[in-house]
Amino acid sequence: MISVHEAQSRILARVASPAPPEMIALAAALGRILAEDIRAAMDVPPADNSAVDGYAVAAVDIPPTGVRWLDVVADLPAGSEFGHALRAGQALRIMTGAPIPVGADTVYPQEIVTRDGPRVEVPPIERGANVRGRGEDVRAGQIVLGAGTVMRAPEMGVAASLGLAQLLVRQKPRVAIVSTGDEVAEPGAERRPAQIYDSNRFTLRGLVEAAGGQVTDYGIIPDVFERLHAELLGAAASHDIVLTSGGVSVGDYDLVKSVLQGAGDIDFWQVAMQPGRPVAVGRIGGAHFFGLPGNPVAAMLTFHLFVRPALWKLAGRRDLDVPLFRAAAAERMRKKRGRREFKRGVLSHDGERWQVRTTGPQGSGILTSMTQANCLIVVEEDAGDVSPGESVWVEPLHFS
Ligand code: AMP
Ligand code: MG
Repeated sequence: MISVHEAQSRILARVASPAPPEMIALAAALGRILAEDIRAAMDVPPADNSAVDGYAVAAVDIPPTGVRWLDVVADLPAGSEFGHALRAGQALRIMTGAPIPVGADTVYPQEIVTRDGPRVEVPPIERGANVRGRGEDVRAGQIVLGAGTVMRAPEMGVAASLGLAQLLVRQKPRVAIVSTGDEVAEPGAERRPAQIYDSNRFTLRGLVEAAGGQVTDYGIIPDVFERLHAELLGAAASHDIVLTSGGVSVGDYDLVKSVLQGAGDIDFWQVAMQPGRPVAVGRIGGAHFFGLPGNPVAAMLTFHLFVRPALWKLAGRRDLDVPLFRAAAAERMRKKRGRREFKRGVLSHDGERWQVRTTGPQGSGILTSMTQANCLIVVEEDAGDVSPGESVWVEPLHFS
């Protein structure tokens, strides 16, 4: 059996190259990963401009003490240009965002001056006040967003500020999702007494889409070797990742492993962790294969630990690290040495420090625990039981 860390390294080593690039409209790029560096072709802002509504003047006209009267020569709304140089003794009425004319270098906010007809009375002010400098955000030639960057809201805005209408991003990795098991029924269909409804295809779809993949739903495949063999090979032909749940433990009908042994290869199928020990990782045809455990919490957790980093790397993402924090255990937690355990936790701040409790019973079939949790509590391999007050690692989940 290998450790979680070893499993993660082996998986990432198997993902050699990212998905091919494609050009898409900026407006469709949210959540996508840049396939190339974006180098600025212009300064942002493109010109010195006013940060306030007020009066632009030349520094020579700023009175060192007392006040001075200046002639207001024109009115400049945002989007307009003055077109001349401002001369000594003159002030230009200017709106926020309008370019600072040649000859001016300082802007008075309208609140601190007195306007009287064609003239304005100005007090002392710091030279250069209220001017936003050309290129203060981005300089032409600078790499603003690197290849592998996730396009979130701020990145969308930065690309737009450079005038880009299209971006070269990575194609979304294609992920086939298969549920296995005669005991699994489709929501909305008739459920025999010995059956449970399929939840894994739905949690996994959500996780794949959140990680930037695109899903093909292969439905529920019964525990019949030939069926599973045919479906998995078919899926492998047109997908980057084939994801199954169920059928990877040591029960008589755990067929996924047998199919893989014939039609692909298994790199490993047991990881020293709880929940989620049985997880088969390897290849089928030309696709990466992940056989996740059937238990709903274990399926989500093994996705989180093993499939998501692979998917991110395939999607071309540069940063694969997840943030971990320390918090004080608010209760006693059972822990077996020699494996890494993941408990569903509720992280809160008690006014003094961060503390974490479990969501309650931690059975790997208790899927509602995942809806209550806002973090995973990660108890490392060499640790035993955790005492109240002891500090533990937590990984925040869907905090916003
Ligand atoms: P298995 O890994 O096939 O032995 O399944 C382990 C447990 O997970 C069993 O209790 C299954 O009934 C359950 N299970 C398997 N597949 C699913 C699924 N798609 N949705 C919900 N539970 C499942
Ligand atoms: Mg099964």
